[in-house]
Amino acid sequence: MQIHRFPLSRSIAVLLTAALAAAASLAVAQSRTDIHRDAATRNVGNDPFMMQYARAFYCNLADDNNRIVIESRGWNNTTGTGPNAEYRIPATQIFDDVWFVGNHYVGQYLIKTADGLVQVDAGNTANEVATFNFPAMQALGLSPTYPLRAVLLTHGHRDHDGGAAWLRTNLGAEIFLGSADASNKPYAPTGIDSTDLSMRQMSIGGKNFWILPTPGHTAGSTSSVVEVMDHGKPVRVLTNGGQSMSSNSIPAVASYLDSIERTYAMVKALNVEGVMTPHIYWDGEGEKMREILAKGRTVPSQHVYGHESVVRQMVIARECSAAWLSRLDATTVLPVWRYNTLEFQHASPLPTRFSVKASNGWGPLAHQAVTFEHEASGASCVATTDASGVATCASGFGPFRPGIDKVNVRFAGASTNDFVDLPATASAVVGNGCSDLAAARSAIGAREGQPRYVARLDADGNGVIDVRDVASMSRLMASGTRCN
Ligand SMILES: [Zn+2]
Repeated sequence: MQIHRFPLSRSIAVLLTAALAAAASLAVAQSRTDIHRDAATRNVGNDPFMMQYARAFYCNLADDNNRIVIESRGWNNTTGTGPNAEYRIPATQIFDDVWFVGNHYVGQYLIKTADGLVQVDAGNTANEVATFNFPAMQALGLSPTYPLRAVLLTHGHRDHDGGAAWLRTNLGAEIFLGSADASNKPYAPTGIDSTDLSMRQMSIGGKNFWILPTPGHTAGSTSSVVEVMDHGKPVRVLTNGGQSMSSNSIPAVASYLDSIERTYAMVKALNVEGVMTPHIYWDGEGEKMREILAKGRTVPSQHVYGHESVVRQMVIARECSAAWLSRLDATTVLPVWRYNTLEFQHASPLPTRFSVKASNGWGPLAHQAVTFEHEASGASCVATTDASGVATCASGFGPFRPGIDKVNVRFAGASTNDFVDLPATASAVVGNGCSDLAAARSAIGAREGQPRYVARLDADGNGVIDVRDVASMSRLMASGTRCN
């Protein structure tokens, strides 16, 4: 007899996984490791790309899935020849003033400044930078008056600093490296004080970098943010220095966790929107690079992930490091970080009605204060979320002008022993409700999970957009509003 095997459909597989997880949690209490791994997943939201890359790679150890990192080391082609030559990436423009050169395992970023080049990281070997980076620099105008001013090393491992001595000797570049990684290096690095954990601005090769020492992967790992230009628009991008955690050192993993929390704060404070990762397989930039090579750079660049996406990555990384730390050290008990979102609800903001839903990967965020603010005047209104996470200001605030006035809403964050609920914001221009009303009308019958279903239009939250949602929306709209 022949047995036919059919792959489980994705949704059935997801349901089964959820059911098994629920059964397991009934049988035995979840370990701290499992709680944080689960939190990393919940913080992804509904982004398959982030699930496949940042979630999988930051959690590689806690998931017992380190093979994905080991496998990627096979892509570290430094010569352009041999069986894995296809992993080599030619110098490729990713921003107006930034080029990537390297391979699918590890690469470098060449930044053009007014008075010379700056490179982030230095390749695996002298031969590699002489063969690939040097010609790329020449193509970008390298000359005695337009030199390679500086190299900023993310840390002192060989796959990041192997070509540093060649770049110093042959091109005269100043090499910056976290001081804790700097001993016995043959290229006389300029130390970045690894014991000073504060974020500061530093001029490197005449270019401003925000520098944040992030010990963990190595003691001298350094992360940075730099402002580059994307189709004429300034955008700030993060280089996370040293992404993988130590597999067995509790102090190193504890220090990595602390570094990730500080990197989260830096990303928030500087409104970082993009990434320039040395190991491009880690957060999916390798896939973006293939797209750039095949179809060119998009507007915005593929390396612009969006601010909320970069923030989410850091929250995922934080939960993955908490998962791994609690595996190594069973006495570790840390609260779970929850990434929160605020979403204006059905037709809001209207001239006199402001309604927002706060939620996270665990469900609605209930009983929390949110503050609505009229941007132009600073007038504000505080409301508390109900059991379904919805907070509404409907009197004494406004009226504001549709199409003109902007309303910002923010949740300041909260914490308990179990959770750190991260702050969230949202902004919208006041409307008259007509576009939401039209959208709800055209989506009648759409159920949760279907493409036409939009949660914010589902006024009663019953999982289907129906005539009652349309009716309640038109009741909320100012009387006399005429929609075309
Ligand atoms: Zn390393």
